[in-house]
Amino acid sequence: MGNIVSELFGTLVFNDSVMKERLPKETYKAMQKAIQEGRRLDLSVANVVANAMKDWAIEKGATHFTHWFQPMTGVTAEKHDSFISPIEGGRVIMEFSGKELVKGESDASSFPSGGLRSTFEARGYTAWDPTSYAFIKDRTLYIPTAFCSYTGEALDKKTPLLRSMEAINKQTLRVLKLFGNDDVTAVRTTVGPEQEYFLIDMDMYNRRKDLIYTGRTLFGNKPPKGQELDDHYFGTLKPRVAAFMAELDEELWKLGVLVKTEHNEAAPAQHELAPIFSTTNIATDHNQLTMEMMQKIAKKHGMVCLLHEKPFAGISGSGKHNNWSISTNTGVNLLEPGETPYENAQFLLFLVAVIKAVDDYQDLLRISVASAGNDHRLGANEAPPAVVSMFLGDELNEILESIETDSAYTAKEHVQMKIGVHVLPRFPKDTTDRNRTSPFAFTGNKFEFRMLGSADSIACANVMLNTSVAESLRVFADELEGAEDFNTALHELIKRTIKEHKRIIFNGNGYDDAWIKEAEQRGLLNLKTTPDCLPYYAHEKNLELFRTHRIYTETEVRSRCDIMLENYCKIINIEGLTMVDMVKKDILPAVSSYIKVLAETGNAKKAFCPGVDCTYEENLVFRLSELCGVVCKQVIDLDEKLTQARNSIGHYAAANYYKDVVLGAMSALRSNVDEMETITDAKYWPYPSYGDLLFGIK
Ligand code: ADP
Ligand code: MG
Repeated sequence: MGNIVSELFGTLVFNDSVMKERLPKETYKAMQKAIQEGRRLDLSVANVVANAMKDWAIEKGATHFTHWFQPMTGVTAEKHDSFISPIEGGRVIMEFSGKELVKGESDASSFPSGGLRSTFEARGYTAWDPTSYAFIKDRTLYIPTAFCSYTGEALDKKTPLLRSMEAINKQTLRVLKLFGNDDVTAVRTTVGPEQEYFLIDMDMYNRRKDLIYTGRTLFGNKPPKGQELDDHYFGTLKPRVAAFMAELDEELWKLGVLVKTEHNEAAPAQHELAPIFSTTNIATDHNQLTMEMMQKIAKKHGMVCLLHEKPFAGISGSGKHNNWSISTNTGVNLLEPGETPYENAQFLLFLVAVIKAVDDYQDLLRISVASAGNDHRLGANEAPPAVVSMFLGDELNEILESIETDSAYTAKEHVQMKIGVHVLPRFPKDTTDRNRTSPFAFTGNKFEFRMLGSADSIACANVMLNTSVAESLRVFADELEGAEDFNTALHELIKRTIKEHKRIIFNGNGYDDAWIKEAEQRGLLNLKTTPDCLPYYAHEKNLELFRTHRIYTETEVRSRCDIMLENYCKIINIEGLTMVDMVKKDILPAVSSYIKVLAETGNAKKAFCPGVDCTYEENLVFRLSELCGVVCKQVIDLDEKLTQARNSIGHYAAANYYKDVVLGAMSALRSNVDEMETITDAKYWPYPSYGDLLFGIK
């Protein structure tokens, strides 16, 4: 199999080795330059590349091409065109020009734009991103592209991501120059996103309207056995799941996705996939492909892949861990502690750059993971809290403390931490223990941002990370470039940054309520929900950040905010309506029928044996009838509130109404319906139970 995998890997990707083999030398060089420097290609060069791509794709069975893009819906979009071009005699030839490769035009009016693109100007453009390889899927050549409006505003997730990568590249190069790294010409951030998901049986899924319409269960009780025995985590794979994973790996390998690890997660029916890290841009494209393939391949195996952040109440939700670092084109990971004091000084500067970034832009990091689905997760006792903080581990913490206070690093060694001047001890490797509760943890040579929801595109989180760290580095470079004595200035800068930003560092248990209180005392933000955090998006300090690094214009920020709020409202509205539908059409009728049977049974018993004890039937009839009455009122109430919410004027008013009023009505209704489920004969309950769903795959 090993040999087969290496032969299989990347077979559907127009990657470097294909380009080397198929492009004329000069074209290949120009292409390399475009990839490394993110430059545009001349049309003449693009023509040659397009032709080679087309020939290669046709040999692989492709008949169509598509500009593949990532609008703000969070999923990818595509429009397929065939390669055919008519010639005389009623025949066709297969053609693909440089122009078609480089730029596409598509009707953008049905994609969310937050008011950026009025309907009379519905044109949107897609522009080829040569830094992410083209690939073949479903007999179609996929060309990764950025998507923008006629006037150049970003309508997608890739454009700002590429802008943020450029920003951090520029500022990191300035800093590296100060340390004398003249050989480095480009810097990229790298990401390895660990993806969690649930697999459930398709027949059961099809019997649950809530899963079909909303991706999560809106009713349901935790089964007697949940995840408390930890017997699922890393457990043996069920044969159906193993077959799914094997096919998923194979299909993703063909597409050049570096899938490395597949295992069972904490909750029953929950699993995880982790790839080997790559450049942020490619990691983002690959994560989108991974999510899409998971859903597609699950169906082939008679299962449904749930990517929702919280499909089941009372059971762990699904997240995505965004492992992030910065690498040079010479192959150096800038977050790897070095062997020498000199290297360590540089490492420490990058470390404090991240600390400062996370502290200064907590709000943006929180916003980057905000969604109606993820709100259920953050703050529940299984995922990081909504408060952003950083975990560094004891060792690194001690080092920072000793720098801050100019004191000895350890009692044993008595080494004073003076960066670049005195000898710094070697950093012990792998000292970071595995703190699982921190939203943002240093894990030896990278940071792991753990607040992302499983369904999120990772683009936004990385835009915020790249940009906020670029800003720290910009400020640092400004200061150090003007310094008289580099070493002294460096030492002072690191020391001051630690002092100013150490409030963001927390090495304890993030699930602890006491921490939330302490965090508030430290002045950290606790933005619990999407409508709570979104007002921060357009704060002047953030607009300033985006302007400085040319990530978003103010219009782009405001439009993104509107889209997120609108989306939040739509999701809760659909959930509310689904609940109303389920209760009215399925649940109340089912419980009523069951009540009738109970009452008839009780009467029959009494008729048969006068004076017999019928408390079982009587109590149940009584409680269920009572609950039916309450639920009936609650469902009318929810329905009215949903109408109210839809009539709210303004995005914030609507979102806050959904958050403060509608969600409350939904959970009140749920708790009574869930009680009904526990006392209703399973034969009468109209939906598969949590137990069926979570333990249904053999
Ligand atoms: P965990 O124990 O959290 O599952 P792993 O060691 O398996 O952690 O790594 C998790 C992810 O981190 C993998 O996708 C891996 O490729 C990625 N990773 C490792 N090094 C880097 C790096 N320098 N930059 C970005 N991601 C990285
Ligand atoms: Mg992890």
